Amino acid sequence: MICHLCEQYQVETLRFNTLFVYKPFCLTCEKKYFPRFYQEIIPCEYDEILYNFVYQESMPSIRHNRLLFRHMKVYFRLIDAGNYEEGIKIIIDFIEMRNFQDWFPFIKGMGKVYFFSLFYYDLTVFAELF
Ligand SMILES: [Zn+2]
Repeated sequence: MICHLCEQYQVETLRFNTLFVYKPFCLTCEKKYFPRFYQEIIPCEYDEILYNFVYQESMPSIRHNRLLFRHMKVYFRLIDAGNYEEGIKIIIDFIEMRNFQDWFPFIKGMGKVYFFSLFYYDLTVFAELF
């Protein structure tokens, strides 16, 4: 089989108990992309922004984003269970980051803001907006 992330062949010994087990990622990628959850607090003029992300690295490719997006379900469950206070919760990805300067001023001053993303985006480049 071919790993969906690194596109390398993975050789596995087939046994009866692993005959119908499908692993989309190789062991190296499973270790490399094991979900770890990080939080960054960004002070801003009115309140603070809590930026939550799963991987510390920047997005390698759109394919990686699509294949690993299932790890965001932890955040969705926490939001659904009400673990975050009142405030605006925004899931950001590469599309939102392209237009960040356009939409961010509209949420400025509306209280606590939570950002969620799969890969890390350096928000310090937009420091003048906060
Ligand atoms: Zn791999």
